[in-house]
Amino acid sequence: MRRFILLACLVALAGCATKPRERETLAQVSTIDSLMAGNYDGTVRLSRLYNYGDFGLGTLDRLDGELIVLDGQAWQVPVSGEARRVAPAERTPFAALTHFDPETILVIDNTSGISPEQQVLNHLDPDRFAAIRVHGRFSSLRTRSVPRQETNRPLPAVIADGQKTFDFTDVEGTMVGLYCPAYVKGLNVPGFHFHFITADRTAGGHVLSWTPSSVVVAIDDASTFTMLIPDGFAPGAGDDKALEAVEKGK
Ligand SMILES: [Zn+2]
Repeated sequence: MRRFILLACLVALAGCATKPRERETLAQVSTIDSLMAGNYDGTVRLSRLYNYGDFGLGTLDRLDGELIVLDGQAWQVPVSGEARRVAPAERTPFAALTHFDPETILVIDNTSGISPEQQVLNHLDPDRFAAIRVHGRFSSLRTRSVPRQETNRPLPAVIADGQKTFDFTDVEGTMVGLYCPAYVKGLNVPGFHFHFITADRTAGGHVLSWTPSSVVVAIDDASTFTMLIPDGFAPGAGDDKALEAVEKGK
């Protein structure tokens, strides 16, 4: 009997080891409202963030372009549109990462009459966080990037006169995405937020619109949320309409 109990304990421990709680955590640096207010100084090195995950998105020190983290490797799409690898020592003012262990896989295309985002949404719990990888061929995709900022002018002003957009047609690549519930407004972006990197890792950006040709969607629910609050953190003030315009590139 004692031997049986010991075995049961070992099995339980093994179960924990394969999926520890921290792998189910979405961890982020700072808040979207703080970034919106112009707090662009990179505070946390990517090497530290990698303790929290191998998958996610954000921006880099001084709002220098769009950050994509996929399979533990990071790329920046700067305003030039030419992607480059990001070193672990580089810092971010705002980013969110998780360990990507998808539970749900689905194939979507553009023939069902249901929008691609709705097809993904149908497989999500709208009140929980999720990481979403969309890989394959896209018939069209529009992204943007933003220029590095020397001043702290607010993000809506940067988008209004500084963003550059990029149009892709019949392109292969991967979208790295997050879904955040509506109740996180002020902390992160409610709804979907995708960044894109081409299969040859030369281009990408913050996704403004996408139409799949044929893609595989992998979804990883996150049941825990962690925030890294930098020294000297300035929370900023919320403005839902301004955030929506920024995310949609308007
Ligand atoms: Zn973005």
